[in-house]
Amino acid sequence: MAGCATAIAIASRRPDLTVWLAGVPHGRPPVGESIPPDSRPLLERLGVLADFLADGHQPCLGSASAWGSAALGHNDFLTNPYGTGWHLDRARFEQLLLDRARSGTTRVLAGWTARTVAAQGSRLIQFTLTSPGQAPLTGTAGFVVDATGSAASIGRQLAAVHRWHDRLVLATAFFRAPEAAPPSRLTVLEATEDGWWYLAGLPGNRLTVAFASDSEHFRDTGTARWPAWVQGLADTRHIARRLSGSQLLSRELVNLSASSRRLEPIAGPGWLAVGDAACSYDPLSAQGIHQALHTGLAAADEICAGLSGPGLVCADYAARTAADFEEYLANHRHLYAAEQRFAGSPFWQRRRAAGTTTSPQRQMLSTVVS
Ligand SMILES: Cc1cc2nc3c(=O)[nH]c(=O)nc-3n(C[C@H](O)[C@H](O)[C@H](O)COP(=O)(O)OP(=O)(O)OC[C@H]3O[C@@H](n4cnc5c(N)ncnc54)[C@H](O)[C@@H]3O)c2cc1C
Repeated sequence: MAGCATAIAIASRRPDLTVWLAGVPHGRPPVGESIPPDSRPLLERLGVLADFLADGHQPCLGSASAWGSAALGHNDFLTNPYGTGWHLDRARFEQLLLDRARSGTTRVLAGWTARTVAAQGSRLIQFTLTSPGQAPLTGTAGFVVDATGSAASIGRQLAAVHRWHDRLVLATAFFRAPEAAPPSRLTVLEATEDGWWYLAGLPGNRLTVAFASDSEHFRDTGTARWPAWVQGLADTRHIARRLSGSQLLSRELVNLSASSRRLEPIAGPGWLAVGDAACSYDPLSAQGIHQALHTGLAAADEICAGLSGPGLVCADYAARTAADFEEYLANHRHLYAAEQRFAGSPFWQRRRAAGTTTSPQRQMLSTVVS
């Protein structure tokens, strides 16, 4: 997604440049669907807003959360100048971006994996792409964008490292709501002893339900698998009630890391990272998709402005993206500190410790290490 956004934006500003977009599909059901109203101008800048609005995504009016108290509080988008947010049909959204990238000057290499990258002198990046049944493709590029998601597999080959701030994992299942009772247009959040649950209504009367906790909790309790997960769901006060009459679509849970982490550095000579490859966000913030689009556009601006010079380093882009992530971390600590129940829970203790330190980043990192 971040790669498509970058390619669309570069191709629209600099049709004289040759942009190659290589990528493999996720190989799992697409997860992650909530975007805020503020994403609307980004869709407009990418030239996809009209098609997006006609694509049947589910408007999202805000959230209802049992957070800091067992009762539900409401936070809606009523006063947001951009209107509602959305619960996406994620596969359709990604296809829209890919189609738009293809319709410009970008050459799309679907099904190709970026296998190796290496700096060639100070100006060029050498790369090898592979695809099953095809001979490897080797070449050199004036600039490479890492949009490989949380793997950051290009940046990490160019000496960047991950900085982890937590080890959040989400175990997700999908349901179908009864025809007579379509899902609410609010995201529902519920904090529990060992983490939190969320429920969102998707297009096509589907629902996504996820449990978020630390990897240690999943390992020790087996909650990433069906019987324990569904027991935890049954113990929720608000989420389980909203699934009454819904049909489970598959017992296979989608278990994915959703940790807060960033790449250090985010850019170097001849390369930069966008989207989750640069920084990844707790889904509670609903910022990941927005940031994937935002960083794609911002990266394109800086690449297009500087690409005539040798060994371009997008230092301003890297600094702004890092600053956005610091701001996110401050909000993230504040949000978790708002839940003061569950005093004996390691999940909440870790986050509370992170929220009260005067040196928050160091404390969060050492929490993960301990
Ligand atoms: C369970 C869960 C729930 C979430 N919920 C939300 C939410 O509600 N709202 C929100 O905003 N965000 C949410 N997120 C985060 C959001 O999904 C991500 O921030 C977003 O997908 C980032 O987009 P991206 O394009 O950077 O990375 P990705 O979407 O991960 O895309 C990376 C792509 O690169 C491909 N790839 C990987 N390695 C290579 C390689 N070597 N060569 C070629 N291609 C490669 C991958 O197959 C993939 O297609 C959630 C995340 C999780 C895990």
